[in-house]
Amino acid sequence: MNTNIQELGEVLASPKNIVIVPHKNPDGDAIGASLAVYHYLNLLGHNTVVISPNEYPDFLKWMPGSENVLKFDTKRKAAKILIENADLIFTLDFNALDRVEDMKPSLESSKATFVMIDHHEQPDDYAAYIYSDPKMGSTCEMIYHFMDTLGHRDKINKDIATCLYTGIMTDSGSFRFPSTTSITHRVIADLMDRGAENSDIHSAVYDTNGLSRLHLLGCALKNLVLLEKYNTVYITLSRKELEQFGFKKGDTEGFVNYGLSLKNVRFSVIFLEDTQEDFIKISLRSVGDFSVNEVARKHFNGGGHINAAGGRSDLSMEETIEKFRKLLDGYKKELTT
Ligand code: 5GP
Ligand code: MN
Repeated sequence: MNTNIQELGEVLASPKNIVIVPHKNPDGDAIGASLAVYHYLNLLGHNTVVISPNEYPDFLKWMPGSENVLKFDTKRKAAKILIENADLIFTLDFNALDRVEDMKPSLESSKATFVMIDHHEQPDDYAAYIYSDPKMGSTCEMIYHFMDTLGHRDKINKDIATCLYTGIMTDSGSFRFPSTTSITHRVIADLMDRGAENSDIHSAVYDTNGLSRLHLLGCALKNLVLLEKYNTVYITLSRKELEQFGFKKGDTEGFVNYGLSLKNVRFSVIFLEDTQEDFIKISLRSVGDFSVNEVARKHFNGGGHINAAGGRSDLSMEETIEKFRKLLDGYKKELTT
């Protein structure tokens, strides 16, 4: 763990203009953390806004405060003014400014003091206040510890508890990934005591599928290729297939995990042809010691955690798959012994 976050208490003692930023294509953890911090800082009397680099999936829009999130890509002018006037900028669930893509120049030119709370490996050093812990399963769990450290556990109301529960749940695969500890469960228990409705939250996130999304999952599973020699699985979805099933943001979330449900499989990857730009979005997952963070960094211009990472390829789908199949030889020993 690397932190000086306890020093932030003094800075937060007087009202500030604060901008909160999740990474691009934010997931449940990024939005949960951002909205939890938003509610918390508002309670402390700050002037607070969440600016997301872009839109996020519908299954996160029910979250309290979601209606007030500004999207940088469609509200650039207003967002830039808020960033310019910010005293503090919280960057949550990412640790390198590249992760906000188009929003990066605005953040870089801001005179605000930066705060980073994040659980990805190898943080950059743009933030004056850092709480970085790759052992943590979610940024939301860290936000809970952050509030606790500042002596503010009693400020965690129903809205904050709901947002934090959502992020811990989504980033832990509903409390099943190895990063889930007994402390995670204690945090979750406390969030329930403070008003998080566990069953309602699970339903709101996981049981609001449209039929076309289930059909898209069917297509993905049909396209799944098992490479037994490497205990590896990959799935492809072309632009045409995504369009055929009416793809919307978030529809492919979690698909890559199905690969890991096969016996002996240690490494699962999904290749998604972007529907707007010419590149392939890649999600990588593993079980055990095999580091997909390393594979993503080395070969696909990305990164993440040991067992969950993402990246991209600017080659065609065919060329990307060829590159992927070739690179497996270099990892054969790790994947099979
Ligand atoms: P996902 O596959 O769900 O998009 O991402 C899995 C994990 O890898 C997440 O923790 C996410 O933040 C991280 N990640 C995804 N894409 C990228 C990327 O392009 N660069 C880096 N550094 N991390 C990524
Ligand atoms: Mn996260």
